[in-house]
Amino acid sequence: MNRPEALQSTAGFDVEAVRRDFPILQEQVNGHPLVYLDNAATTQKPRAVIDAISHYYLHDNSNVHRGAHALAERATAKFEAARSTVAEFLNAPHREQILWTRGTTESINLVAFSWGRNNLKAGDRILVSAMEHHSNIVPWQMVAEATGATVEPIPVDETGTLELAALETLLEQGQVRMVAVGHVSNALGTVNPIDDIIALAHKHGALALIDGAQAVSHWPIDVQALDCDFYVFSAHKLFGPTGFGVLYGKRDLLEAMPPYQGGGEMIQSVSFAGTTYNQLPYKFEAGTPDIAGAIGLAAAIDYLNGLDREAAAAHERALLAYAEEKAFATPGITLVGTAAHKVSVLSFLVEGTHPNDLGFLLDQQGVAVRTGHHCAQPIMEQYHIPGTVRASFAFYNTSDEVDRLFEALEKARQFF
Ligand code: PLP
Repeated sequence: MNRPEALQSTAGFDVEAVRRDFPILQEQVNGHPLVYLDNAATTQKPRAVIDAISHYYLHDNSNVHRGAHALAERATAKFEAARSTVAEFLNAPHREQILWTRGTTESINLVAFSWGRNNLKAGDRILVSAMEHHSNIVPWQMVAEATGATVEPIPVDETGTLELAALETLLEQGQVRMVAVGHVSNALGTVNPIDDIIALAHKHGALALIDGAQAVSHWPIDVQALDCDFYVFSAHKLFGPTGFGVLYGKRDLLEAMPPYQGGGEMIQSVSFAGTTYNQLPYKFEAGTPDIAGAIGLAAAIDYLNGLDREAAAAHERALLAYAEEKAFATPGITLVGTAAHKVSVLSFLVEGTHPNDLGFLLDQQGVAVRTGHHCAQPIMEQYHIPGTVRASFAFYNTSDEVDRLFEALEKARQFF
């Protein structure tokens, strides 16, 4: 089997050089060089991110916004500069539209609770795709329970493709207030046609929230061109730290939404006669924030901006194509998710084996994959499977690592 040309080092993208930026890729696991193919769960961190976080704790650590001393000023300047970096990264019109959260999960909860509880009523409908991550289902179910609204799935076909015509039919039935879909499915790798989805939602008077957790690491996002109402992602899927994330929202919506949590930072003044809230973005940022998280995320974005992202994306596409080709050529492997437009994810089953057993045997050979339902139980239920083995690629993976995956699979199969 020929390796695709793009997998060799190209003028714009030298995978071996990029790998040297990620110290953890040198790890040995169970006596083998690590093959890290669990990037959809979390990405590894370049040294630039690790250094930015430790520099902050070594030299600048302080609380932000309220200190009258040099460290507080430095910490605040870096923390707020990070917001501008993210605003530019998403092409948000104003930095105040970038809210810090603990991640994609909290960003969606914030919208569901703040916008949802104040705008939804009995009979209103929320649409999510049948292949959503639980983070983009359960918060909506919770707010639906509180308001009398309903949550309905947008059908997804056998290949893992969202059925746009079915979405339009659901919208035509009326009273849809929110369409919340993933940009990319973490379980199947499907890239959803979010331009069309957002346009359809707006045509029928609904808002559109895009879960970008699995998209942001693969290509640039332009929230103004997309015209989405909300876009959310987690820093740790973008080569940044865990437990930190972003909610972008349209200004008029954010202005009208009440705070999600109360406490310090989010107030203008507090009195027993009545409390007034801070302006955007602080209205939604109660308590001492994850300052190092913001600094780490900005460092990750700076790192990405220093790469040839087109070349990195081409490398990832070639890697997935190579892995799919190998999977098709291997008897007993069934791919789960074969949509025409996919990125980074190879989800599969191997005849006669349980995904969890396979995951264990691959780990014994130093190959890290994810097994199970990938927090997307409804789509697994639709396909009548308990879960899959998921190999997910980042630009620092190589064709040798794909070979290692398939060699390890072969050995694992001999074991059964
Ligand atoms: N949405 C998608 C598509 C994801 O892949 C994930 C994480 O796997 C999440 C949401 C939740 O992200 P986090 O756990 O960082 O909040």
